[in-house]
Amino acid sequence: MQKRALITGLTGQDGSYLAELLLEKGYQVFGLVRRSSSGNLDRISHLSGNVQILSGDLLDQSSLMDVISESQPDEIYNLASQSYVPLSWTQPALTAEYTALGVSRLLESIRRCKKDAKFYQASSSEVFGQPDESPQTERTAFRPRNPYGVAKAYAHWMTINYRQQYNLYTCCGITYTHESPRRGTEFVFRKITSTAAMIKLGLAKELKLGNLEARRDWCYAKDAVYAMWLMLQQEKPDDYIIASGETHSVKDLVECAFNCVGLNWQDYVSVDPAFYRPDESVQLVGSIEKIKTQLDWKPQYSFEQLVELMVEHDLKKLTNTGC
Ligand code: GDP
Repeated sequence: MQKRALITGLTGQDGSYLAELLLEKGYQVFGLVRRSSSGNLDRISHLSGNVQILSGDLLDQSSLMDVISESQPDEIYNLASQSYVPLSWTQPALTAEYTALGVSRLLESIRRCKKDAKFYQASSSEVFGQPDESPQTERTAFRPRNPYGVAKAYAHWMTINYRQQYNLYTCCGITYTHESPRRGTEFVFRKITSTAAMIKLGLAKELKLGNLEARRDWCYAKDAVYAMWLMLQQEKPDDYIIASGETHSVKDLVECAFNCVGLNWQDYVSVDPAFYRPDESVQLVGSIEKIKTQLDWKPQYSFEQLVELMVEHDLKKLTNTGC
């Protein structure tokens, strides 16, 4: 029988890649979409007709119950949240409503309407905040440092509590930064790949960056969504870190991106203190031992391959649109 999946956050980077993966695997895919975000369907316009959009909101319990009753999903992936960290400081209560309580409402709706559905919760490395150890494992203490991280920590533990209390099949995937051509240029990865492409094409002259020594654990969003799917195919639910397991510096990234377009980065890059962050002393990097050993998952794309595919995408896009 055809499997059915419901994705919240369908219009985001991960939601769009996950929908593609599930369609390839023959699923019937439903997407929960807020009315206010339904104007922003860019990332899924190529999927229209294949994905059934259902209107609902994580702030509204009855809409979630209706959507679950109507779609009867075998698997539910909660990728929706208020995920922009600076906004979580200016709107902390709204962030908690979506990112924390929204998950309570969703879990409660599953318990009431579709107890046998498998549930994936998108946890984030932001739950670790300023961690005591590096790399982090599934057992590292949570010390979130912003309202978004705090809300994600609540959602993480509620997901585990529903598994323990009600025996639901619920899992948390703790993802680190993951990138793709669908990522916005405010993030450093895409900022660098798109600016390198612009410079190559004569559309920009320079690239201003903050701390070149800052290090991140970057992986490809397509690899990350595959891990999400894999987690729900197991006999028993469990929680896993989804990461590359490696760190690279912003300087590595710049060097690699400019190499891809055949330019010397030192001729174009300058450091602007405006892009510096406060304390970045502790490294966020995930240990992927558990997911590697238990699920046989590891990223298919290396750091270099990811940089290359993003630069190529940006070159092609700029050549086609000329802007
Ligand atoms: P996030 O902080 O993981 O959400 O991702 P970002 O892509 O915004 O930042 C990644 C790292 O790049 C951080 O450690 C920043 O300090 C560093 N960085 C250096 N220069 C820049 C820049 O120009 N823009 C951004 N966004 N980050 C920069």
